[in-house]
Amino acid sequence: MLVEKRYFETLHNGYGQYFDVTEILFEQKTPQWHLIIFNNPNFGRVMALNGIIQTTERDEFIYHETLTHTPILAHGNVKSVLIIGGGDGGILREVVKHQDIEHITMVEIDNTVVDMCKTYFPNHSACAYDDPRVNLVISDGADFVNKTSERFDVIISDCTDPVGPGEALFEYAFYAGCKRCLDENGIFVAQNGVPFMQIEELTTSQQRLSAYFSDVTFYTSCVPTYVGGQMALAWGTENHALRKESVQTISERYNASNIVTKYYNPHIHVASFALPNFVSQAIKNVANNQR
Ligand code: SAM
Repeated sequence: MLVEKRYFETLHNGYGQYFDVTEILFEQKTPQWHLIIFNNPNFGRVMALNGIIQTTERDEFIYHETLTHTPILAHGNVKSVLIIGGGDGGILREVVKHQDIEHITMVEIDNTVVDMCKTYFPNHSACAYDDPRVNLVISDGADFVNKTSERFDVIISDCTDPVGPGEALFEYAFYAGCKRCLDENGIFVAQNGVPFMQIEELTTSQQRLSAYFSDVTFYTSCVPTYVGGQMALAWGTENHALRKESVQTISERYNASNIVTKYYNPHIHVASFALPNFVSQAIKNVANNQR
């Protein structure tokens, strides 16, 4: 919400962050969102959808590297990736860094987000859309996963919070569709909010994901403009060993991939699965209630 020269995020009641706005670069009511892109002296260009901060030039790499490289290097032999959402292009940029991946499908519901982020956040996608392995589909992700005949080794849901069309990406039907098109040894990961502020979002996802995956947990990253503490990233797979790969194994894969990262590294990879007690206890409570 814009008040004079300040943008106030409206995600949480009674608590939030604001950004001084030095220039509004783009603002439009698209069929899906109220989309705004503006300049801020501390974080560079900032995008918000429906009053919720989506990405900033300055701290985007933390989130995009963590959500992308953790499942891909844990898996160790990824040939096909599905990105749901991700309209700012940051996840796509990180996925295309992996030369062994043979094809990448990205399903984003709002073409205006893709187009405006190509224009105002060129370093997010960094020409990744031109990679011949990439197939961009403008559609609802929940619909896509329940209809596609493609199969994927990793599915990355880089979704908004569960608002508007984003709600569908936290429902049973979406998770069922992801399980349906994920390879039996595959990994599903998803943006799952800041548990200190949104613990119900985490426990609801765990409950729903557990209907389709036998190994459901979360890993974390600290993204300054996703306020309120660590961000939780959902993890679902049938292969319980994948998230327990050693620093040595992840290091071998990381070095062999020749990818360059500013935040992600093998030690952070392994450490990101260590959860604070209030989160692991909330997960245990859900598991106990499901028995
Ligand atoms: N990193 C951000 C976060 O953690 O909140 C998310 C960034 S990305 C811009 C979120 C994208 O999800 C948006 O481009 C939005 O249009 C897309 N999206 C939301 N619901 C969707 C759906 N049902 N199908 C496909 N894309 C969707």
